[in-house]
Amino acid sequence: MNDKVRAKKHLGQHFLTDENIAKKIADTLKLSGYKHVLEIGPGMGVLTKYLLEKPVETHVIEIDPESVEYLNAHFLALSGRIHSKDFLKYDVRQLFGDQPFAITGNFPYNISSQIVFKTIEMRDQVPEFTGMFQKEVAERICEGPGNKTYGILSVLTQAFYKAEYLFTVSEKVFDPPPKVKSGVLRLTRKEDHQLRCNEKMFFRVVKTAFQQRRKTLRNSLKTFNLSDSLKEDAIFGQRPEQLSVEAFVSLTQKIENDTV
Ligand code: SAH
Repeated sequence: MNDKVRAKKHLGQHFLTDENIAKKIADTLKLSGYKHVLEIGPGMGVLTKYLLEKPVETHVIEIDPESVEYLNAHFLALSGRIHSKDFLKYDVRQLFGDQPFAITGNFPYNISSQIVFKTIEMRDQVPEFTGMFQKEVAERICEGPGNKTYGILSVLTQAFYKAEYLFTVSEKVFDPPPKVKSGVLRLTRKEDHQLRCNEKMFFRVVKTAFQQRRKTLRNSLKTFNLSDSLKEDAIFGQRPEQLSVEAFVSLTQKIENDTV
């Protein structure tokens, strides 16, 4: 067997080589309110070994059979908790039932947004999410209104989680080095993570509004067939990037209550 996993580009494999940074990422978990942690994309386990020192039960999910073989050979303590699966297609309840768990990882950057969207879907079970993304993606998730990068990912995440950008990581500490810098973030679920509006409608409004982010809501939300009187409301003269999460919730309520 090889003593290292060969990096495969199509799986977004860039292995972290700096032990201090690996430890620092593992330390981003506050370990409060859950006893299980799921690491996505452990690769050769650089982060995993620090997670194993924590007073929680760590499971890892890895799509690459070569990495899985490596982990099975090197991490006997993880026996039975190495899952050879695609995170995006896997039903995590098979591991944790209804128990809460945290998600962490130095994630595969080619599926960053999907990882966040899947986490949002599972939010009732995920009180905390930390880890490393491409820097721009980490920034976008944490960005507030009024900024160019504020968008769908920011609003949908922040509707349910407090988002903190923690620190930037240089491309030089990866093998092979990626073309971009990386950023580590922490998402902490809000105490009250129920939306005060219809959730499906909220997602639809946010996505539709940002599809034409330079237009006013009056124009970008035309397909909702809103009444003329509602469209007079000042909020419709704004562009999506000006709206806070709360403003999107209130906009959704208005749309729900609109009768043409
Ligand atoms: N955490 C390791 C590896 C990071 S590279 C480190 O820091 O060194 C990203 C890892 O995610 C790779 O091991 C890759 O095989 C894995 N991966 C990619 N797509 C995946 C998916 N859909 N499900 C689970 N793991 C995935």
